[in-house]
Amino acid sequence: MENCIFCKIINKEIPANIIYEDDTVLAFLDISPIKCGHTLIIPKKHYKDLDEINEETLNHIMKISKILKKRIEEKLNPSGLQLVQNNGDLQEVKHYHLHLIPNYDKDVNLSIDEVFNLLK
Ligand code: AMP
Ligand code: ZN
Repeated sequence: MENCIFCKIINKEIPANIIYEDDTVLAFLDISPIKCGHTLIIPKKHYKDLDEINEETLNHIMKISKILKKRIEEKLNPSGLQLVQNNGDLQEVKHYHLHLIPNYDKDVNLSIDEVFNLLK
């Protein structure tokens, strides 16, 4: 999809801190993390939102979310972790993405590079 920033990341036209990749999905660190380790999982094929994406791809994304949740927990020791997926006027980037947002009971202030080195 032309002019889609996430398609450009998939096509390696713009950089991202990619922590997981397979034939179907890509996961990378959010550029403006709400918390350290804030990660996005996206399908490699462009689906706009929850209405457009098919169940097979959705199931695969959920499977990868379990793997990455464990990785984030092992490396960053969060007190909790939220899965968020925005649609409609809540969705800024119109390419389906699942947010993994860790939470911490004390301040964790690592740079994106430090988080990337831990999670890659
Ligand atoms: P949403 O509001 O659910 O559409 O969230 C879009 C998310 O994409 C935001 O958390 C942004 O910080 C993130 N984002 C936008 N551009 C990039 C980028 N080039 N690399 C990584 N994350 C991005
Ligand atoms: Zn796209």
